[in-house]
Amino acid sequence: MITSNNAPAKDAKKVAVIGSGFGGLGTAIRLATKGYKVTLLEARDQLGGRAYVYRQDGFTFDAGPTVITAPFLIDELFTNAGRRTEDYLKIVPVDPFYKIEFYDGSSFDYNADEAATEAKIRQMSPGDVEGYRAMIRAAKDIFDKGFTELSTKPFLNFTDMLKVAPDLIRLQSHLTVYQFAARYVKDDRLRRVFSFHPLLVGGNPFQTTSIYALIHHLEREWGVHYAMGGTGAVVQAMGKLFGELGGETRLSTAVSRILVKEGKAAGVVTESGETIQADAVVSNADIATTYTKLLSNEKRKRWTDKKLKKMRYSMSLFVIYFGTRKQYPNIAHHTILLSDHYKELLSEIFIDKKLSNEFSMYLHRPSATDPSMAPEGCDCFYVLIPVPNQQSGIDWQREAKPFRDRVMQWLDQHYMPGLLDNLATERYFTPLDFETTLRSHAGAAFSFEPIFTQSAWFRPHNHSEDIENLFFAGAGTHPGAGMPGVLCSAKIVEDLVCQRIPLKV
Ligand SMILES: Cc1cc2nc3c(=O)[nH]c(=O)nc-3n(C[C@H](O)[C@H](O)[C@H](O)COP(=O)(O)OP(=O)(O)OC[C@H]3O[C@@H](n4cnc5c(N)ncnc54)[C@H](O)[C@@H]3O)c2cc1C
Repeated sequence: MITSNNAPAKDAKKVAVIGSGFGGLGTAIRLATKGYKVTLLEARDQLGGRAYVYRQDGFTFDAGPTVITAPFLIDELFTNAGRRTEDYLKIVPVDPFYKIEFYDGSSFDYNADEAATEAKIRQMSPGDVEGYRAMIRAAKDIFDKGFTELSTKPFLNFTDMLKVAPDLIRLQSHLTVYQFAARYVKDDRLRRVFSFHPLLVGGNPFQTTSIYALIHHLEREWGVHYAMGGTGAVVQAMGKLFGELGGETRLSTAVSRILVKEGKAAGVVTESGETIQADAVVSNADIATTYTKLLSNEKRKRWTDKKLKKMRYSMSLFVIYFGTRKQYPNIAHHTILLSDHYKELLSEIFIDKKLSNEFSMYLHRPSATDPSMAPEGCDCFYVLIPVPNQQSGIDWQREAKPFRDRVMQWLDQHYMPGLLDNLATERYFTPLDFETTLRSHAGAAFSFEPIFTQSAWFRPHNHSEDIENLFFAGAGTHPGAGMPGVLCSAKIVEDLVCQRIPLKV
């Protein structure tokens, strides 16, 4: 148990937060800053949720998020609490943001330097520079509405949705992100470069609403960042801040049930049988799991088991963490390797739910920026491959090893010569692990798929529609997955808790 002497007032309202992903941790900090007595309950032995850290044979592996795109949302947690982020954490820019490699041998990288990016576009497809300029203007428009105005606004009533409908029509949010990019640039490689972003939040670029084109503007405006020591250092800094604010963190404490009295959340019961009373409960656990497992006995009008079954869940991921005895200095910090049959591959993953013979992947090399992540002379990596979620029926206990072998052999032959002879350490995480270790419904890596009919009002609200005083922060609620999204959900929950369960009556 981690506690501090900086306790909130004795009669402060109590909030139990289930889960310490960025959404849970962000909410816990915000409410502790306001003076609530917050208990954070985490099933695993570390904070961070998907941002878990594996330390192995001298290597440090961030398990999940690696691309920090909205550092101001992290800053806000510290400044609200009267602290300075730089006293806890060193966040540095990454350049280039990404290097995208195509299987035909060509590649494209970009950063915030508009002239340099245009020069690279000119080189790849001279006719696309004008279109690119128009595209980034349109992405800014979407950002101004979709992020600045809507990402921290709760969509609790359908009228909230109706109010924004004219803007959604004006911004052509019926288009997919790929269709949006295709309107502006002709070269198919560039279309892929400027439309892969939904994959970072669990969406298929060929099905996700073009609202997600705002990610490109977010990158350009604030850059892509890295926390020295890895994303785990952000989690540690947030955990420290929460303790300083008087928050109580209980690791290895899984919640088995949310207590409900007269239709209101009144606390939680842990798997060991302990009851923790609270005035409000915030679930950062997977929402489908929260409803089907932690509230299985409660009457639910909107989020019934049947309705949850019908929802579309994001793809899953197969992630291999590995360290090499040699270094690969030419590999960028963030590399994306895109297959030629990109569209077909994504259909296989999202629609047919088949394990393909081909793969597109994201290769992470934090030691490009931060040598502390690997022993001297070595390199630290993870490779992430989108794969179907657990609705596929794939038996990962059987398939994991052959799949790992195919990926590593491909990398060795096509991209990282000598890899197999220089492996120093390795481990992997499969869709089955998302389902069991992370308790995610259908083993989805990003909860509900971010399609239009599962966004904003259509997504489970930040305040439960079924149980009073139960709130949601995290990937499955508004605005959605990704560190920026879940940190915005924390902001929404802070406001809702303050309105509905004021500190002083
Ligand atoms: C491999 C990978 C790479 C990613 N890369 C990026 C990236 O580069 N940039 C980016 O912005 N986003 C990225 N994402 C997405 C981002 O990581 C997630 O959307 C975000 O971190 C999810 O946060 P969350 O608040 O929903 O909580 P989660 O991280 O899902 O954490 C939920 C927590 O709840 C706990 N829990 C569940 N049930 C219980 C229970 N019954 N009792 C107690 N605790 C419970 C779980 O153990 C877990 O710790 C990535 C995701 C993955 C998987």
